[in-house]
Amino acid sequence: MAGRVTFTMIKPDAVRNGHIGNILKMIGDAGFKIRAMKYTRMTADQAGQFYEVHKERPFYGELVDFMSSGPIVAAILEKDNAVEAFRTLIGATNPAQAAEGTIRKAYATSIGENAVHGSDSDENALIEGDFHFSRLERF
Ligand code: GDP
Repeated sequence: MAGRVTFTMIKPDAVRNGHIGNILKMIGDAGFKIRAMKYTRMTADQAGQFYEVHKERPFYGELVDFMSSGPIVAAILEKDNAVEAFRTLIGATNPAQAAEGTIRKAYATSIGENAVHGSDSDENALIEGDFHFSRLERF
């Protein structure tokens, strides 16, 4: 499956701001199929584990607090060249630099509270999908 799947989270800011439906519509309109999806909330421990790769970055604590601050929508998405196609759809990390038509341009409020997560490699897409979903939760 590597190469055809990516993993996303609609982050707590976008959920709080009522953007779940609009973001899922942008994802569907861009041609992604949903292989797994759930409305869930990470504990601080889980968010710390999910973002362990950023442990040494100065914003790690803020990121963990934010990502465990409320519910998220987690999903595994499928499309050709999924990781790159989804990174293009979500736009730059900092919404001030995100291109027109991207999810972050439309819904992110800051570099930290930037509405959506998208895996940065095929390898991480599999690891991140496995973090949130069992085999029985995929279709
Ligand atoms: P992404 O791959 O575009 O999500 O960006 P990164 O992998 O560089 O960072 C992961 C996540 O950490 C981002 O999506 C932001 O939520 C958060 N983040 C990145 N840079 C900053 C920052 O300078 N400050 C804060 N508070 N959060 C940041």
